Amino acid sequence: MSTETQTAFRDALVAHGLLIPMGVDGLYGRSGVFEDVVERFDALITQWGKDDGAEVMRFPPALNRRHFEKSEYLNSFPQLAGTIHSFEGNERDHQTLLQKLHDGEDWTGMQRPTDVVLTPAACYPVYPTIAARGVLPERGRVVDVYSTCFRHEPSLDPARMQLFRMREYVRIGTPNQVMSFRRSWLERGKLLMESLGVPVAIDLANDPFFGRAGRMLAANQRDQGLKFELLIPITSAEKPTACLSFNYHQDHFGLLWDIRTADGELAHTACVGFGMERVALALFRHHGFDPADWPQAVRAVLWG
Ligand code: AMP
Ligand code: ZN
Repeated sequence: MSTETQTAFRDALVAHGLLIPMGVDGLYGRSGVFEDVVERFDALITQWGKDDGAEVMRFPPALNRRHFEKSEYLNSFPQLAGTIHSFEGNERDHQTLLQKLHDGEDWTGMQRPTDVVLTPAACYPVYPTIAARGVLPERGRVVDVYSTCFRHEPSLDPARMQLFRMREYVRIGTPNQVMSFRRSWLERGKLLMESLGVPVAIDLANDPFFGRAGRMLAANQRDQGLKFELLIPITSAEKPTACLSFNYHQDHFGLLWDIRTADGELAHTACVGFGMERVALALFRHHGFDPADWPQAVRAVLWG
């Protein structure tokens, strides 16, 4: 993927006031116009999901560190995780911190980890929450979450942010319930995005598992068809960007959190995730920087 195309698109987004640079790659403010697109797309997702009767849960963009540790995220993606540290010292330590800051030395060693970790994917707080309720009802559960997520992957590509928003529907239940949920969302996700007049393709995918062992995990994930992505060209025609993800975790989270179905079996889980900034960027890429000039059919879908 050419970095020139990425920076050219990023510069254009900034020039049109849609993204507000903050001096760190992958960290941006957004304009009212950008946010309006995100909000309308959020409402569109709700519309396409309304028959599932999902339970809405909104969490802050952080997890209980104990829950994070138990999630095994560090086994797979240590390179992406972000933890929150804070100062807990006395007045003398404070003076040391200020001295280091003044001398341009590393002052962050004066901080200690808190009980709070940044959320890497919107569905993470759902599993311990559902587990705490005990055995699943017969019909399983569908949960609707929306969170800012952090991943330490600084990039010149405006579609690869360090803090971005992810809306998700999470299905927890029997293998059949979970598989049919994912099948249905693969179809719905495609139709939903096609209604926005952007070119879409669905493809098998894998997560960026860390290290040599990670290559094995990624190959397994592909072989078993556990992850699909809906791709839209944003900064490259050859390498389109994943804007929606369809994940089947099998009994991974069921086992970690001991979530049981009504029959006492380990629960399976799946989620469909919508990358809100990426979808907005795809719309700006294909329809132009001013939504007032977008095709009438697309405007009708979003703004009715
Ligand atoms: P994943 O859990 O990696 O499948 O991510 C779910 C969705 O979040 C993806 O389909 C993307 O649309 C979006 N996403 C993932 N990583 C980023 C990122 N670094 N910047 C913006 N959006 C992202
Ligand atoms: Zn998820």
